[in-house]
Amino acid sequence: LWRRCLSRLEAEFSVEDVQMYLAPLQVSEGEGGLTLWAPNAYTMETVRERFLDPILRVLELIGGAPVAVDLQVGVRPSARDAARPALRSTKPATPERGVESNLDPNYTFETFVEGKSNQLGKAAAMQVAQNPGRAYNPLLLYGGTGLGKTHLMHAAGNLMRANRPDVKVLYLRSEQFVSGMVRALQQKNMDDFKRRFRSVDALLIDDIQFFAGKNTTQEEFFHTFNALFEGKQQIILTCDRYPKEVDNLEPRLKSRLGWGLSVAIEPPDFETRAAIVLAKAQAKGVELPEEVAVLMAKRMRSNVRDLEGALNTLVARANFEGRRISPEFAQETLRDLLTVHAQAITIPNIQKTVADYYQLRLTDLLSAKRSRSIARPRQMAMALAKELTEHSLPEIGDAFGGRDHTTVLHACRTIRDLRETDGKLRQDWEKLLRMLTE
Ligand code: ADP
Ligand code: MG
Repeated sequence: LWRRCLSRLEAEFSVEDVQMYLAPLQVSEGEGGLTLWAPNAYTMETVRERFLDPILRVLELIGGAPVAVDLQVGVRPSARDAARPALRSTKPATPERGVESNLDPNYTFETFVEGKSNQLGKAAAMQVAQNPGRAYNPLLLYGGTGLGKTHLMHAAGNLMRANRPDVKVLYLRSEQFVSGMVRALQQKNMDDFKRRFRSVDALLIDDIQFFAGKNTTQEEFFHTFNALFEGKQQIILTCDRYPKEVDNLEPRLKSRLGWGLSVAIEPPDFETRAAIVLAKAQAKGVELPEEVAVLMAKRMRSNVRDLEGALNTLVARANFEGRRISPEFAQETLRDLLTVHAQAITIPNIQKTVADYYQLRLTDLLSAKRSRSIARPRQMAMALAKELTEHSLPEIGDAFGGRDHTTVLHACRTIRDLRETDGKLRQDWEKLLRMLTE
């Protein structure tokens, strides 16, 4: 079935897409449907986002009925048995006991590049891993998509297991928690379900914003949470925004989430982005000229996943065509991606977004008015322009009604300082950054 599905998809997608994402998938068949095994989380996420719907459509078409498909990171079970001796030496994280941890061994602290934007998150995840159940419980990492939350979560799990191989860690995406629960309810073995979760030393649940509006799930999760918390078992969670801002999440759950430590993961700055690209290239054994890393980091600001996707595209095409990754080659290959990213953020776009956000008229924002309610948003917009575009201070001044470059500099400094001291302003900044970069 999968063979036939794949050959249909080959007609539908580019050679590179197929080579990079679809061909590496392994397939196993279970009672419930197909499981696709991806070599790493990046591939899995991409398949989930871009290819899952077409796959489901084609499978239904050729199979004559809908087929359930689950995505996992790892090696297909039968292949895993065959390859066990080899696997054990390369992956110390292979579970020895009944419970699969679902951890991706590639996501470790060693492969995580630290920068100002993720320093706290990394430190907290390490402390929790060194001292499960006792440092911070729960640990909640939150922030926009593709910023490294999942990576850090796996890294914490992997470190716990490296320290103590017998520790039971279970990683689940929140959809898996939901579907596991639904299945348990249908098959009337909720007791097993409960036991499965409550017997672990550390439970890692990714993207809990998916719990929003799912009341039965929240109820069950709430009880699981309490049981683990009381047992001093570690809980690590991620969410794509500050949980208080997730609608339809129960207040009592929200309040529990605040019992431990919540850390924001922010978009990495330019240096960190460049370092990440270089590190990822090195991990792939690819020689990436620094100029190319700089080009990519400059132009692609929003998230690391896109950056990594761009790198994969480069590498795939370079291999395919037997070419070296020069800056010209990168420009040419990533042209569409780079312009999309560059176009999205312009000074007028920032001005409009900021004006809308503060419910001001654009003309007021650009006017000479000095009242605080206008001047502060104006400074915000200038600081964002400096942060997100390549324009110089004088150019930004010009775009804001012909202001002097020292005014722009002052605005940037004011906003930077206020971000340290003024929580509301920091939130505004983060929201605006997110609105502009996603
Ligand atoms: P999130 O869960 O926040 O959406 P992920 O953890 O899935 O993001 O990260 C997306 C990709 O970017 C992953 O492949 C991850 O390895 C990579 N990544 C993100 N931040 C970093 C970092 N600081 N160093 C190395 N890789 C990173
Ligand atoms: Mg994630």
